[in-house]
Amino acid sequence: SRQIVLASRPSGAPTAENFRLEEVDLPRPGAGQVVVANRVMSVDPYMRGRMNDVRSYVPPFQLDAPLDGGAVGEVVASESPEVPVGTTVLHGAGWREHAVLDAGAVSAVDPALAPKSAYLGVLGMPGLTAYAGLMAAARFQPGDTVFVSGAAGAVGSMVGQIARLSGAARVVGSAGSPAKVARLRELGFDAAFDYHDGPVLEQLRQTAPEGIDVYFDNVGGEHLEAAIATLNTRGRVCLCGAISQYNATEPPAAPRNLALAIGKLLSLQGFLVGAHQGMAPEFREKMAGWLAAGEISWDETVREGLENAPQAFIDLLAGANTGKMVVSL
Ligand code: NDP
Repeated sequence: SRQIVLASRPSGAPTAENFRLEEVDLPRPGAGQVVVANRVMSVDPYMRGRMNDVRSYVPPFQLDAPLDGGAVGEVVASESPEVPVGTTVLHGAGWREHAVLDAGAVSAVDPALAPKSAYLGVLGMPGLTAYAGLMAAARFQPGDTVFVSGAAGAVGSMVGQIARLSGAARVVGSAGSPAKVARLRELGFDAAFDYHDGPVLEQLRQTAPEGIDVYFDNVGGEHLEAAIATLNTRGRVCLCGAISQYNATEPPAAPRNLALAIGKLLSLQGFLVGAHQGMAPEFREKMAGWLAAGEISWDETVREGLENAPQAFIDLLAGANTGKMVVSL
């Protein structure tokens, strides 16, 4: 069986040399354990932070140890009556072809209800991030004008569509290519722009002439500064991600206009999906309804083979994905 280990810690953008493919013996389950043959695994932006040797809300990856992250697979050996062979499960031991896990560390998912990869995206962690970040952190209200960055990605594309379906007055998204901007219009965004086409502030003012009430921040930096300048009184920000900084080796300069938050009575709310697991049942019910009614579309970018997982991760940070980036094994 094969796995990917962290060979060295990246400085700046990760490269192929930071990863190593290893062959290991096919593991056997102990009492109460299962062996899962992974079929699809997730690469996510937060993994970049875990490659640095710093304490954070999740511990860093260890050198020469397999990476981990969300994955869905089939139980191929079981020493647990609760999780028999053949069960499709979601768990946190990706980046390997086979995972040995305690039965309590896997959750069964229904592969007849949705493709396995959906549990890593639209029905999974990124979907909940979008829903809880918008509703709980940004305290979305019908009639709000919503701006979301990283809008063509796994989280951002859901934020925009959920906002539209929940009664937003206007939904604006930014993304990194003309094709992504065109896709956002197809997804029902009222306006979208490519942040490479000019200063974010100018483009945001053009696409949201009445200002914005909610900013869902996936990017940080210049985007956050532009949003602070554009937010209306009592505007709310969900600080979800700052991907423009994840490869940075120097501290960022923006936002330089944070003091505007005082006079505009802005709320800037840090967000971690792990702190909002209580909203998962409500989220799953709503999302299942929207999907069944054909009201939400979801994209994914699929790479084939464990050996290509490092490149999928490198490319994710560079914007090669539309929707959720996954690796099928
Ligand atoms: P995405 O699917 O959005 O993929 C990442 C995208 O980031 C790329 O496709 C790229 O798109 C964009 N990007 C990369 N570099 C830059 C840059 N310098 N400026 C602007 N955009 C850039 O990933 P996710 O949907 O999984 O995650 C989106 C964000 O949400 C991330 O910041 C992530 O860390 C955060 N997150 C936070 C969670 C939490 O609990 N707080 C949970 C899950 C995600 P483009 O072509 O548009 O540049």
